[in-house]
Amino acid sequence: MRRKILAAMLWASAMTPAAPAFAQELNQAVRRDMPDLMALYRDLHANPELSMQETRSAERMAAEARRAGFTVTTGVGGTGVVAVMENGPGPVLMLRADMDALPLVEQTSLAFASRARGTTREGLETGIMHACGHDTHMTAWVGAARRMAASRSQWSGTLVMIAQPGEETSQGARAMLDDGLFTRFPRPTHAIAFHDAASLPAGVIGYAVGPALANVDSVDIQVRGVGGHGAYPHTTRDPVVLAARIVTSLQTLVSREIDPLDSAVVTVGSFHAGTKHNIISDEARLQLTVRSFTPGVRAHLLAGIARIARGEAIAAGVPEERMPVVTVREAEATPATVNTEALTQSSVALFRAHFGEARVRATPPVMGGEDFSRYLIADPRLESLIFWVGGVPQARWDAVQGDVAQLPSLHSPFWAPDAERVIETATEAMVVAALGVLGRR
Ligand SMILES: [Zn+2]
Ligand SMILES: [Zn+2]
Repeated sequence: MRRKILAAMLWASAMTPAAPAFAQELNQAVRRDMPDLMALYRDLHANPELSMQETRSAERMAAEARRAGFTVTTGVGGTGVVAVMENGPGPVLMLRADMDALPLVEQTSLAFASRARGTTREGLETGIMHACGHDTHMTAWVGAARRMAASRSQWSGTLVMIAQPGEETSQGARAMLDDGLFTRFPRPTHAIAFHDAASLPAGVIGYAVGPALANVDSVDIQVRGVGGHGAYPHTTRDPVVLAARIVTSLQTLVSREIDPLDSAVVTVGSFHAGTKHNIISDEARLQLTVRSFTPGVRAHLLAGIARIARGEAIAAGVPEERMPVVTVREAEATPATVNTEALTQSSVALFRAHFGEARVRATPPVMGGEDFSRYLIADPRLESLIFWVGGVPQARWDAVQGDVAQLPSLHSPFWAPDAERVIETATEAMVVAALGVLGRR
């Protein structure tokens, strides 16, 4: 392990991107581009689009990539964009940005805050907001595309830049793969992405080696009872009381059944039943998010949920034909995201050389999910890395002394990153990592 890290560092220090002159040049070029990139960012932020509806964002990405000299294909897996630049023999590197925003009413007081509204695939009419920062991802993607195109003499290989739809609904990566991302276009040997982070100060890079983000499953439980009049509970089997028991018993899955050294989450995020004070409903509906890192823990949690739901229903005297219906939404599942060792270590060594030790931190894996994981699953030979770029404005970070519980998280309607710092850092980091893979040696 240690020898590998040392080798990666030696290798990195021998390469062009780590040279101070290069670092300065890259930083200056990105700085010159920042006014234009920030205009693009504000436009994307003010015009967010829901998952799999990213037509306007995709048009902007495609136009920018074309202008930079890439060969662009649109409509890949819905609204996905694939921009290819072939530049001699060498590795095939895929850089990915995701484009979708969230069904939220923005509550930042930014001058360019979103007032967009739309309808989700579930038919919910809602505000829309880039509360996960995918607008910073798209902007840095454009910044990196421009720099890579401008520095073609410094690298050899093929660059495949993709703008992916539907990350939030875990549909986009799969849709692009199903539409031939790895067959119609040069097949990547390496894949890199970044995500802005609400748990790091702006401009600080975070990374995890190995598992970085969790398996995420969505589970529905239809708890069926026997309805009736609220005055005559003895003639019913009350699904509200039963569902409440199921919610409570589910808490023991993680606390009593999973090895304390393994990670797991079972959250009941939605509980709906009934219409009126004096009617005992005949069903209750629960929606769960279930998170883990390993296939074994995932299987245990999913089996445990079904067992507990059925067991509580039996205890409540529900007839066999009215047992709860537990549905794992396989189509929405997100597998754990893994950062492969060689690419992670070599990129991190380059980041340290470029940004300095203080701006690069090892961070623990998180229980969030990312469908970036699907690319490595589709081709296990791939070298794959997703890293974090901190977005918390420095003054806010200092004010709470880094206690992120006091700050808005990703997906909060108040999330307002220091976008300038995120985009500048991420653009440089993407270029540094890209040249680490494709750079002429
Ligand atoms: Zn998100
Ligand atoms: Zn996100």
